[in-house]
Amino acid sequence: METKQRITIARGDGIGPEIMDATMEILMAAGARIEADYIEVGEKVYLAGNSSGISPESMEILRRNKIFLKAPITTPQGGGYKSLNVNVRKTFGLYSNVRPAVSYHPFVPSAHPKMNLVIVRENEEDLYAGIEHQQTPEVFQCLKILTRPGTEKIIRYAFEFTRSQGRKKLTCMTKDNIMKLTDGMFHKVFDEVGKEYPDIEQEHWIIDIGMAKIADSPADFDVIVMPNLYGDIASDVAAQVAGSVGLAGSANIGDEYAMFEAIHGSAPRRAGQNLANPSGLLHGAILMLLHIGQNDVAEKIHNAWLKTIEDRVVTYDLARKIKETGETNYTEVGTREFAQAVIERLGQKPSTLKVADYGNPVSVQAKKPTFKNVRDQKTELVGSDVFIHDGVIDAQTLGHKLEAIAGEHLKLVMISNRGQLVYPGHHPETFCTDHWRCRFERRDNNSPATHAHIRELLSRVEAEGLKWIKLENLYYIDGQRAYSLSGGQ
Ligand code: NAD
Repeated sequence: METKQRITIARGDGIGPEIMDATMEILMAAGARIEADYIEVGEKVYLAGNSSGISPESMEILRRNKIFLKAPITTPQGGGYKSLNVNVRKTFGLYSNVRPAVSYHPFVPSAHPKMNLVIVRENEEDLYAGIEHQQTPEVFQCLKILTRPGTEKIIRYAFEFTRSQGRKKLTCMTKDNIMKLTDGMFHKVFDEVGKEYPDIEQEHWIIDIGMAKIADSPADFDVIVMPNLYGDIASDVAAQVAGSVGLAGSANIGDEYAMFEAIHGSAPRRAGQNLANPSGLLHGAILMLLHIGQNDVAEKIHNAWLKTIEDRVVTYDLARKIKETGETNYTEVGTREFAQAVIERLGQKPSTLKVADYGNPVSVQAKKPTFKNVRDQKTELVGSDVFIHDGVIDAQTLGHKLEAIAGEHLKLVMISNRGQLVYPGHHPETFCTDHWRCRFERRDNNSPATHAHIRELLSRVEAEGLKWIKLENLYYIDGQRAYSLSGGQ
């Protein structure tokens, strides 16, 4: 007999406990072969003084069970609280966030009846590295970090996912016309890895027009892979145009660990009233069942849910949508009654909507990734961007001062403000803040710059009474310039 899979469950905050109880009732009635350990995460844990929203003991349970089904939580207002989701994703290496967005038209009204796409979102990097600094009174910075191994993992995962689901096309979206190094690398790795998957149709869209197309003609897409922030936004757009954010589930997948959830939040205003729709979390649970190989149970629940929706038994959120179309044939029920309606239909299948068929193993399991080794590539120091804080100086004066102290090894190449060239060749219209990036490069292209050259330069900058606030060294890596030019350069 198959042993039961131990999983960890968090009932969360707001509507979390109600939708989790409803989901678990359906799972158990359908014969899910699972045993649950419940942990407390979220608001209460934060307010008890734990800034990560989860206790070390609960982290140990997550580590032991490896599979986590999580209801939404409330992060208290005010500073100092760290995101539980980001913490769990990063601690356990859940690098892939899989978010299907499917239309159930006409039962859930949608302008896009044929939509059936999956967004595969990179889950650990990008602006979510959370490395932020205020550098001057006027200037704030958040570092966008994309790594080559992180990108390879998510791109390879997306190709494997597309193939294993019997899907045909993988679209990559980036903003590499502007972010040529970070997003440019993501696009390049997509093209590189894509050569290993000739059976899958491949395309790339710039994220702005790509996002517009998701909103306007989502049926054109199949699977879409994106860096973290774009994927976060695009998947909410996709879920909403498919019908409702309240319906979509999501899987956070790593090599060893996985977390499943609804994409919506804890909707505190709806809490405790038996109103909330448990479907998003139920879809997360279906992805979990597929992940742990209980395809039979996943299929049974999915079909019963489709039949319930087809019978127009719905919670308030969908009732409102249906009513807006002038349709009067529907039954509005509460969270518990909705769960009962699904349980009553276990064993039944929808007659109009596409029947869920998980006969063949359809796993969202990750494969151990392989990486191209780039660690041995030659890096050559060629200079440094010295950032200076000065709220009174103008670009010309700063430029002349720095030219005079650049020294025998380094030369001032340019100064930019907010990324726009202001020296040499200043346009008087360009708005300047108190934050100047001053680029120094080696004078002799045949001999490398050294750290000593840069240290000596900084001493002269200080002696000149200028306040340097940070350095960003400039390299050639593998023979290529590894930094961007500034706007106007
Ligand atoms: P939300 O998704 O909680 O709610 C937005 C609105 O959507 C609600 O007012 C409600 O009308 C509707 N809604 C959402 N889920 C629903 C459901 N299952 N059934 C019926 N209606 C539903 O977004 P928010 O109000 O911006 O955030 C509330 C809290 O949730 C915040 O504390 C936020 O930090 C947190 N949050 C948590 C997660 C998570 O744990 N994964 C995700 C997003 C937001």
